[in-house]
Amino acid sequence: SLSIKGLRLSYGALEVLRGIDLEVPKGTVTCVIGPSGSGKSTLLRSLNRLVESNAGVMKLDGEDIRLMKPEKLRARIGMVFQHFNLFPDHTARENIMLALTKIKGIGRDEARRIADARLAEVGLQGRGDHRPSNLSGGQQQRVAIARALAMEPEVVLFDEVTSALDPELVKGVLNLMADLGRRGMTMVVVTHEMGFARHVADRIVFMDEGQVVEAGPPEQLFTAPRTERLKKFFAEVL
Ligand code: ATP
Ligand code: MG
Repeated sequence: SLSIKGLRLSYGALEVLRGIDLEVPKGTVTCVIGPSGSGKSTLLRSLNRLVESNAGVMKLDGEDIRLMKPEKLRARIGMVFQHFNLFPDHTARENIMLALTKIKGIGRDEARRIADARLAEVGLQGRGDHRPSNLSGGQQQRVAIARALAMEPEVVLFDEVTSALDPELVKGVLNLMADLGRRGMTMVVVTHEMGFARHVADRIVFMDEGQVVEAGPPEQLFTAPRTERLKKFFAEVL
């Protein structure tokens, strides 16, 4: 499980995370929603130590995240980004193999076997030899998800992974993520897809101005938001 208490982070004089508390039990899906600039991406990035926080405690299964080596941490907490972040000069299979050989020290034959198995799992069997430029956006995002899963992470963070996709490709990627959630993957999903948040999340966290304003089960937040800020947010996005 993931546990965050009192997380604070500033960029210069701008305090972007202002005391975040968050509990993500093992095997649950948490969706993080909130207006642009509220600190959602920064929260995910600080969990993965892509940015260093200024105060607070972050724990992964009881271990202090800020004391872990970043490479070790990133093998345990996977992350999938809006713009896929695949290596353009490598094939889909090689993109997955690289993480396995470089970070986990797995041999090439074994890494290839794992990569092909993961590609098949996300519906890309037979596409291992394609470079990212020869795959659709939805397929590239599946490769990025397969790459994260190949590391066998304890938690996967998703940052608006469907926002850059053509509308007809969004559903397939959301279905894949819903499927991962059903299979017990622990996930933190930043998303603008309110249907996904409502129907897939076990818990929703609404952020605004660097704070968690409301959190709870989807039905509670969607049918009975307690704060004006969340009501206003839903009025704008629903
Ligand atoms: P969006 O929905 O648009 O993706 P977000 O909730 O993910 O927004 P963040 O990207 O976390 O928001 O940004 C939170 C605030 O931090 C914003 O005001 C942003 O301008 C600022 N910010 C983000 N990254 C940096 C940076 N590297 N340097 C300075 N300020 C930053
Ligand atoms: Mg963001």
